[in-house]
Amino acid sequence: MVAEAKIMTVMTREDFQKLDHDDPLACFRREFYIPQDVIYMDGNSLGAMPKAASRRVGEVTDREWGYDLIKSWNTADWFNAPQRIGDKIAKIIGADEGEVVATDSTSINLFKVLAAALMINSDRSIIVMEGSNFPTDNYIAQGLVEFLGRQHQIRFVEKDGVMDAMDDRVAVVSLTDVHYKTGHRFDMHAITARAHEHGALTVWDLCHSAGAVPVDLKGANADFAVGCGYKYLNGGPGAPAFIFVAKRHQDHVKQPLTGWWSHSAPFDFTRDYESGEGINRMLCGTQPIISLCALEVGVDIMARADIYKIREKSKKMGDLFIALAEQKCGEYGFGIASPRNAYDRGSQVSLTHPNGYAIMQALIERGVIGDFRAPDILRFGFTPLYLRYVDVWDAVDILADIMANEIWQDPKYQVRASVT
Ligand SMILES: *Cc1c(COP(=O)(O)O)cnc(C)c1O
Repeated sequence: MVAEAKIMTVMTREDFQKLDHDDPLACFRREFYIPQDVIYMDGNSLGAMPKAASRRVGEVTDREWGYDLIKSWNTADWFNAPQRIGDKIAKIIGADEGEVVATDSTSINLFKVLAAALMINSDRSIIVMEGSNFPTDNYIAQGLVEFLGRQHQIRFVEKDGVMDAMDDRVAVVSLTDVHYKTGHRFDMHAITARAHEHGALTVWDLCHSAGAVPVDLKGANADFAVGCGYKYLNGGPGAPAFIFVAKRHQDHVKQPLTGWWSHSAPFDFTRDYESGEGINRMLCGTQPIISLCALEVGVDIMARADIYKIREKSKKMGDLFIALAEQKCGEYGFGIASPRNAYDRGSQVSLTHPNGYAIMQALIERGVIGDFRAPDILRFGFTPLYLRYVDVWDAVDILADIMANEIWQDPKYQVRASVT
C-alpha cells in the first residue's frame, strides 16, 4: 500500500482522464443510460439501463404482445426464451450450451438446486454454507430443511473454515463465489475439488460474479450454479435469474417445483408428471417474457465485451479507489472490509465506518450512488462497461469533502429508508 500511495501522490485528475482515453472498454458507456451528474457505483446491486432495453421492451409490448398476441409464443420465440438466453449466459460463466436456463429468481433457483443436490446425495444430511452469506441463500436452505422434516443440518462456517468443514456426511456445499458485503472471492476450483473428494456436490451462487469476473464452471467441475440477472448483467429490476446444471447430472437430476414448463411434453397436457429433457427440467411455469427480453439486451451487451478486459479494469479501479481513499480520507476513521489484493476481490470495494449510513446518504445526495449494508459497510461497485476512471477520482474527492466538512452530520442523513 505504501508504494501505491506514493504513486497516487503524483497522480492527478488528468491522469485518470488519460486512463479513460486509453480504455478499450470506453465505447460501451454510450450504450447505457447514465443520468447527468451521477457517478453510479451500485451496478453490483442494480445494473444501469442499456438504452436498447427500452426500445426492446417497447417492441415486445407494441408489436409482439399488442399486435401478434398469442401467436408470439411461436413467431417471436417467446417459448424458448429461457433456453435461448441461458445459452448466452452460459458463455459468460464458462458453461456449455444446454447447461443454463434464464428463469425465476435466484432465491427460487437456489431452492431447486439445493433440493436437487439433496435428492442426489439422499444418504447424506449436511449442507455446508457461509453464515455471513447474503441472507436469502441461508433462509432458503433453512426453509428447505424445515420442509424436509428437519432431517438435514446446515453447517455454517466462515470463509477460512470452508475446507475443513467437509467430510463424508456432507451432501452439498453451497457458497457464493464473491461475497456480497466484502467482495472476497472463494477458490471455486479448489473447493469444488475438495467437495468432490468427499462425495459432496457444490452449488455456486454467481450473483456477484456473472459479468464481473471470469467464471469457469466447466473448468472447476461445478455441479450446480445460480445467479442474478439484474446486477452485472444489467437485466433490469427484478430481472429473471439463471440456473446451471452440469451436463453429467442432467439425465438423473430432479427438482421439486415440477411445473408444466419442466415436463417432457407440456403441450400434451397429460395427467402425470414426466421430467423434461436436460436443463428444461429446471424450469417451473410460465415465464415473464417482457422481463426476459429486457434481460437479453443486457446479456447481449455483456457477451460482446471481453470479460478479461472487464476484470482488468475493475481490479485497477478498485486499487486506485483504495489508494485514493487512503490518501484523501485516511484521517477520518474508515476501515476496509474488502481484500486489498485485487485478485482475491470481486468487482467492489467495501469501506467500513461507524457513521457509514449517514455518509452514504450524503454521498448519494451529491450524486455518488453506492449503498450501505448494516452494520457499518459502505459498498462501492465497479462496473467497467459504464464507469470511468475519472468517476473514481471524483467519487473520492466528494467523499473527502463530505468528511472534511462533516456534511454527513446533517440530521436528514440519519433517517433510514426502507431500502438501503
Ligand atoms: C443479490 C443476491 C441474491 C438475490 O436474490 P433474489 O432472489 O433476486 O432476491 C441472492 N443471493 C446473493 C448472494 C445475492 O447477492
